[in-house]
Order: sequence, then structure tokens, then C-alpha cells
Amino acid sequence: MDLSYILNHLGEDRAQYFGAVAPPLVQSSIFAFPNVAAMRDAFADEYGRHLYTRGNNPTVEILRRKVAALEGAEDCLMFGSGAAAMAAGVMTHLVAGDHVVCVAKPYSWTRALLRDLLGRYGVAVSFVDGCEVAYFEAALRERTRLIVLESPNSLTFEQQDLAAVAALAQARGIRTICDNSYATPLNQSPLALGIDLVVHSATKYLNGHSDVVAGALCGSSALLREVFRGPYMALGAILSPHDAWLLLRGLRTLQVRIERIARTTREVLAYLEAHPRVRQVHSPQASANPQLALSQRQLRGASGLLTIELATGEVAAVERFCDALTRFLMTVSWGGYESLAFPVCAVFPPGTPLRPGGDTNLALVRLSIGLEDAAVLIADLEQALARL
Ligand SMILES: *Cc1c(COP(=O)(O)O)cnc(C)c1O
Repeated sequence: MDLSYILNHLGEDRAQYFGAVAPPLVQSSIFAFPNVAAMRDAFADEYGRHLYTRGNNPTVEILRRKVAALEGAEDCLMFGSGAAAMAAGVMTHLVAGDHVVCVAKPYSWTRALLRDLLGRYGVAVSFVDGCEVAYFEAALRERTRLIVLESPNSLTFEQQDLAAVAALAQARGIRTICDNSYATPLNQSPLALGIDLVVHSATKYLNGHSDVVAGALCGSSALLREVFRGPYMALGAILSPHDAWLLLRGLRTLQVRIERIARTTREVLAYLEAHPRVRQVHSPQASANPQLALSQRQLRGASGLLTIELATGEVAAVERFCDALTRFLMTVSWGGYESLAFPVCAVFPPGTPLRPGGDTNLALVRLSIGLEDAAVLIADLEQALARL
């Protein structure tokens, strides 16, 4: 199945809706039945039928089919956020007394879910540096049920060898879940490497327009039926039909956006790597990345995230740089049509030292490259770097 077929047509049965080219937004919360027997059938198979929109909705279903096909998955469930998709995927596997191994630097709310929230329900978690498979192996316990991966992560882009971790887990009957938000389904296919579940913050590249918060969970039908019967229906953190409809529109241009963003990002990366006021550029594609060989093997291409470490000893200079940017909007999140800058120092109170300890480094500024011309973005960075 070619990519443009998935993005333009898959899951869209236009004969059912008057040949309408744009799919209908089925805003209904409930679906009625002609007789009791039909309603009973729906109750018996809520996963496959239409009864109530917390379970299934025709507009959301079109999106599920497309995202599943993009990931090479049998099925996909959509959620009201990436965090909800991760929570559902994780909770499906765990009871009190179980143990989880997670990469050391996951998305902050993945860490909070595992450590703070599930910790209250008797689940133990170990965070390990994911760059060596042996570190995962060393952390396994009798009750380890799940390994949580994020490759690459979205700030400093550490990666895991997904095939090797999947093989380790499969041999012991441990499930694996991988956050694939950075790479998008176009640039990395964790399921094909043996991972059980893939999570996306669809808020990022899949939607791509900074107007929807959404999540996706992809995997086998058997596994997703477990998720559906468990946290999907019980927690009810679903994607609304309207947001699904917007996401369908965002998804139409996924391929062209990613291609364009990858090209621009290469140019911006080369510019920043050569700049004397940038101490280091973090990116899976950066020439100084110690995991460059893994990037080349595991990723098919680049996305638009880069994190720069500014060559300065003071937070005030980082602030001057960020405040001077005009084409990069300063905010959280990433993956939209517009370029963004996220200064790590904004998370900390004023007066925090540049290196407060541990891995934290307030000289880091993450850039999300959008659809602007590379020359425009480079000119903006040039004038802001001059203020350092
Ligand atoms: C944003 C993000 C999430 C959470 O997604 P939301 O849609 O904001 O809930 C999860 N993982 C990564 C890597 C993210 O960047």
C-alpha cells in the first residue's frame, strides 16, 4: 500500500456518504438499533460495532485505520492525548507488585505516570540508560512485565536498539511499548522490529497544525482489544470526533510536511554545527552524536527537532538569545507548521545556575523546525546568536 493511498483514501468509503470527498464528521454520541437482536449484537462486540462514541465512532475509525496502516499495525486506538495513549498502553499490562523498566529520560509525564501515579498502586519502576541492551537486562526482575522505550527522546535524542530490546523482552515474555512521536511512522517502524505497542503524541507531526491534542496506540488487534476492554473504555480518555476530523485533515499533508521539514532541518543543522556560539547541537543526525550509526540503521530520515547548547556561562545570555528570536515562536510542544523555540531555562525559577546538577543544562534550547524557508530561519538564528 503506497503512502499517498493511505493518506488520501484508506478507510474512506465515499459511496456511503454521497460521494463526499471530505469525510463526514459524525458528531453523534449514540447509534440506534432497529431491534433488540441488533442491539444485543452490538453489546456483544463493542470493539467492532457502533453503540456509543466512547467506544467507536465512524469519523475516529477512519483515522484509526490510517494511523494503523502508517505504522504497519493491525489496529490503532485514538486517545484525547499522547499521555492518555501511553497511560492506557502501560496500565493494560500491570497489576500491583509488577515491575516496569523504562528509559532514563522519557517524556516527563511518562516518568510521572510510572513513578508517581502507578507507584501509588504498587507498581515498581527502574529507569535505565537505554543506550546498551545489557542495561535493560541487568534491570529485569522476576515481576518485570513491561519495558517502556522512547527512541529518540524529544530533547537530547538518546535512542535504543529496538530490535535488540524487543528480542530480549520476547525471550522472557515481557511486553514492550515505544514512544515513536519524534520519528513519525514515516521514519521508524518499531512494530516491524518486534516491539508490541507504539505510542504517538498525534498532537505533534501527525496533526501538524498546533490545533489538536491527541494520541494514538498501535499494535496487534488482540493486544488492542485488551486495551479497549481495560483503560480505553474505563478511563474514557477518547479523541472527540471533531478533533479526529481535524487530524484527518492534518494527516493529508504528513508526507510533504515531513519531507520539507527534513530538508530545512538539514540546512539549519549544518549552519548551527558550524557556529562558534553553539557549543553542541543535539540531533539524531548531528555529526557529534555517539549513536549516529544507530540513527542510520534504525531511522529512515530526520524530523525537525534540534536542541542547541549555547556557548555561554550565564542564563541571562540564553534568555537574550531566546527573546531576540522573531520567526521562532517561544513555547512548548513541537511538530507543527510553524517553527518553535523551547528554552529549558523557562522551566526553572529565575536565579537557577546554568548547570544546577545532574543532566540538567539550562543552556539548552530546543528548536522545532516548521515549514518556513531555511534562509528565513537561519537569518533569525543569526541575529539572535549575535545577542548572546
Ligand atoms: C508531547 C509528547 C507526549 C505527550 O503527548 P500529548 O499529546 O501532549 O499528551 C508524549 N511523548 C512525547 C515524546 C512528546 O513529545
